[in-house]
Amino acid sequence: MNKRRRLKRERNKADKLWREKVKERFAGKCVVCGATQYVQCHHLLPRELAEWRVELENGILLCASHHKYSRLLSAHKNPVAFAVWMMDNRLEQWQWAAELVRIRLCGRSSSKNGLQG
Ligand SMILES: [Zn+2]
Repeated sequence: MNKRRRLKRERNKADKLWREKVKERFAGKCVVCGATQYVQCHHLLPRELAEWRVELENGILLCASHHKYSRLLSAHKNPVAFAVWMMDNRLEQWQWAAELVRIRLCGRSSSKNGLQG
């Protein structure tokens, strides 16, 4: 097997393990509505950011509706509403992600005016 295929296989394995751990952390339930069917793992910080791709804190369990489809509240279709929900319900996890965004986008850690500089 060539190196590229081997790396891809290892990444798929790590992704699968990450999904299992996220499901376990949230007891198989959508954090918003408690649904247990069609649950999906959502990355708070995009999975393309390799550093946090398989970080447990970067994952949250959502039903398909709250992950991708609801116009009222879903991570992908209404990210502002999702951000508000996270701040109201899972502040610590949200702050973890927000702090990394500040460091990445502004090169500094700060909760005040973090994205203006
Ligand atoms: Zn849901």
